[in-house]
Amino acid sequence: MYRDVLLHIGGEWRGARDGRTFDIVNPATEDAIGTCAFAGTADLDDALAAAAQGFAAWRRQSAHARAGVLMKAAELLRARAEDVAQLMVLEQGKPLAEARIEVQLSADVIQWFAGEAARIYGRVVPARADHVRQLSLREPVGVVAAFTPWNFPVSQATRKSAAALAAGCAVILKGPEEAPACCAELVRAFADAGLPAGALNLVYGHPPDISGYLVPHPQVRKISFTGSTVVGKQLAALAGAHMKRATMELGGHAPAIVCADADLDTAVRVLAAGKFRNAGQVCIAPTRFLVEQSVYQPFLERFVAAAEAQRLGSGLDPDTTMGPLANPRRLQAMEAFMEDARDKGGRVVTGGERRGNRGWFYAPTVVSDLPPDARLLNEEPFGPVALIAPFETLDAVIAEANRLPFGLAAYAYTRSQRSASRLGGEIESGMVSINHHGLGLPETPFGGVKDSGYGSEGGAEGIEPYLNVKFVSQLDA
Ligand code: NAD
Repeated sequence: MYRDVLLHIGGEWRGARDGRTFDIVNPATEDAIGTCAFAGTADLDDALAAAAQGFAAWRRQSAHARAGVLMKAAELLRARAEDVAQLMVLEQGKPLAEARIEVQLSADVIQWFAGEAARIYGRVVPARADHVRQLSLREPVGVVAAFTPWNFPVSQATRKSAAALAAGCAVILKGPEEAPACCAELVRAFADAGLPAGALNLVYGHPPDISGYLVPHPQVRKISFTGSTVVGKQLAALAGAHMKRATMELGGHAPAIVCADADLDTAVRVLAAGKFRNAGQVCIAPTRFLVEQSVYQPFLERFVAAAEAQRLGSGLDPDTTMGPLANPRRLQAMEAFMEDARDKGGRVVTGGERRGNRGWFYAPTVVSDLPPDARLLNEEPFGPVALIAPFETLDAVIAEANRLPFGLAAYAYTRSQRSASRLGGEIESGMVSINHHGLGLPETPFGGVKDSGYGSEGGAEGIEPYLNVKFVSQLDA
C-alpha cells in the first residue's frame, strides 16, 4: 500500500538530481516500508527557480480563480481521504480514526482559506486634497519557505500552504521526513486541482541544510516554521539576520486547570482524550494537570482509569486508541524524562515504561508529586505523560500556569462564570479553552505567545502573515 515518495518541483514529480534517497520506517513495526527522495542544493536551486515562475503565474490569477483552485484541492483531498489517512498511519503511527479526522479537517482548512482568498480587502483612506486617491492595498509577500513537522504531517503543511496560496504566494514546502507520503498527497491534491507549475514545491532532506540555504536566499521573502522552540529560535534569528518575515508555531506545556466546581466527568473524558491523542505528540496537548485540592483524589483516580483504558496497538487495528510514538527519539526522550522524574521523587501512578520491544510504544503515563525542578515540569514532554498536582487558590494556579516561558494552549474546567473569566483573561497563552476542547478549527486563530512563538495560523488572522501592505497615493493627472 505504501509508495516511494518523490520531490515535487516545477509541477513535476521527480527524484533528487543525485538520486539520493532515505528510508521510511513504520513506527509500529520498525520495518522499512519505502524510500523518499533526498533534496540537495541543486534541487533547492530548481525549487527556487520554479517558485519564482510559479509566483509570477499564480499572483496574476484573480482572487476568485485562486479560490476556485483551492476549493477543487479541498474536494480532491476529501475524495482521497481514506488513502491519505492509511499512508499516514503506516508512516506516523496514529490510529486510523485520528488520521481520517486530520485529513478531513485539512480539507476544511483549504476550503476556509479559499473563502479568505476572495476576502483580501484593502482600504480607501480619505485624502487631504481634492483629486488625490489614497489606497491601502494588500499584496502577496512572494515566495514562502514553509517547514512542517511529523506529528500532524498533513494538517500542519495544509495550514501554511493553503494560507500562502490563498494570498497569492508561491511555496517551497519542506515536509516531514518521517511522514512524507501523506504530505505528498496533499501537494498532489493542489497540483491536480490546477495550481500553476512551481506555485507549490515539495522537498525533503536534511532540515538544517535546507533551512540554512532557503531562509537567507534573496528569493525567499517569508518563512513559516512549526516545531520545537529550540529550532524555532535558531530559524527566527536567521530570518531576522536576513530581514525575512516569519511565523513561529513552537512548543507548549499546556496547563489544564480543574476547579472543585467543575463537571469532573467531562473534564476527565475530554482532557484524557486530549492527552493521549496522537500519543501525546501534540503541541497543544494538556500537560500540567492542576486540580483543586478537594477534587484532587477523585480526579486522579478517574484520570488514571482513563489512561489505563487506552488500547495500544497498530493504528490500522480498529480497536487501537493510541499508536506508537512516531520515532525512536521520542522513546528515548520519554525514558530520560521518567528517569529524572523517578530520581527526583516523583510518583509514577501508572505507566512509565516502554510497551513491548518492537515498535516505539510507550505506556500512557500519569505522574504526581513532582518537585518543581523535575524536567517534566519545565520541558515539553511531547509524549503520553500527564503530570498531576493539587492547587489551593485561583491566584496560585494562575501563577503556576504562567510560570513557564511557554504560552501556547491552556485548558480550564469550572462552573463559575467568575473563575472562567479570570482564567480566560489572566492566563498568558495564545489560546484558552474552557469547559470543552475548542481549539484548532479552520475558522479560529491558532498560535502562541512567549517562547511558543508568534503569528496566527487559522481564522481570518491566518492569511495576514502572507500579505504585505502597500500604500498608493495617486493624484489624478
Ligand atoms: P527537532 O527539534 O529536531 O525537530 C522538530 C521539527 O523541526 C522537525 O519537523 C524537524 O524536521 C524540524 N527541524 C529541525 N531542525 C531544523 C532546522 N534547522 N531547520 C528546519 N527544520 C528543522 O525535534 P524532533 O525530535 O523532531 O521533535 C521533538 C520536539 O519538537 C518536541 O519536543 C516538540 O517540542 C517539537 N515539535 C513541536 C511540534 C509542534 O507542533 N509545535 C511538532 C513536532 C515537534
